[in-house]
Amino acid sequence: MTAAHEVPVRGLLRVGVGRPVDLSAIDTRATPGLPPLAVTGPDRKSWAREQVRQLGRDLAEQQEMLYAQAVAGSGTGRRLLLVLQAMDCGGKDGAVRRVAGAMDPLGLHIRAFGPPTAEELDHHFLWRIRRALPPAGYVGVFNRSHYEDVLVVRVDSLAPEEVWRPRYDEINAFESELIDDGFVVIKVFLHISYDEQRERLLSRLTDPTKHWKYHPGDVDARAKWPDYQAAYAEALSRCASERAPWHVVPADRKWYRDWALAHLLREHFVELDLAYPPARFDLGFERARLLAGDGAGPSKVNVG
Ligand code: ATP
Repeated sequence: MTAAHEVPVRGLLRVGVGRPVDLSAIDTRATPGLPPLAVTGPDRKSWAREQVRQLGRDLAEQQEMLYAQAVAGSGTGRRLLLVLQAMDCGGKDGAVRRVAGAMDPLGLHIRAFGPPTAEELDHHFLWRIRRALPPAGYVGVFNRSHYEDVLVVRVDSLAPEEVWRPRYDEINAFESELIDDGFVVIKVFLHISYDEQRERLLSRLTDPTKHWKYHPGDVDARAKWPDYQAAYAEALSRCASERAPWHVVPADRKWYRDWALAHLLREHFVELDLAYPPARFDLGFERARLLAGDGAGPSKVNVG
């Protein structure tokens, strides 16, 4: 791994456990953990992009080792689950593309959560979440998640408070269960400003190739910005635990968002202390068998 940065960013981005969260006090243009040289340098954006490329190679290797251990039966159910939440235009899709996209798609388990279907509404709110969990050896990515059930559901009064309020405890119990089962749960809130959201919405209107991304409903949600910020603040503070902390990534600058997310993933991978599993067969015997068998292959057999 050749990335110059070695100071863990997770500690800089994580939300304090058992403390209230004040999102308005977190600068959405900040760059926590970025090395000073990169911060003052003339082109920190391309520096960060290059770092993400380098980190991507490392993430791909870590993911392959995770998968290989599961195949070899030595992974003890381990898997990663990245939970991404953000306001509309917060950059979840871009982050998945640029950071998770560095890994082998065959080892990724990406799921997005929109409004629940009629069938999903007939079940407990965690039903559809459980069905979407990554198998052992995979890196799961949730684009939106079970947290919508204490966010949009709360802000839009889709359920009464006596229904959504107990969900904080249910979510904590659920995540704790996942961790007992071998999950590493990485929860990330991509934090953008009200002004940045306006710019991104406007650019979707200006650019014909982005019209498909524009939903008039996003402007209605934007009108409830303070309610959403309050709902996020409570969700982050009620559901930040030592085992499954929340991280707030300042996300107005896309290059910083990707840089921070790539580091967060890498730091969690490193903690797993992964390695390629050893061969479960006699290497020398297999090599000899292959070489001895040469000459009895299909090309010879088919002749005549
Ligand atoms: P993006 O997530 O990038 O904004 P999108 O808006 O196109 O993409 P959709 O498939 O339309 O994605 O679904 C996202 C919408 O679904 C959001 O408005 C979100 O609040 C809503 N949603 C997600 N989960 C729930 C839920 N449990 N209850 C109600 N609405 C939900």
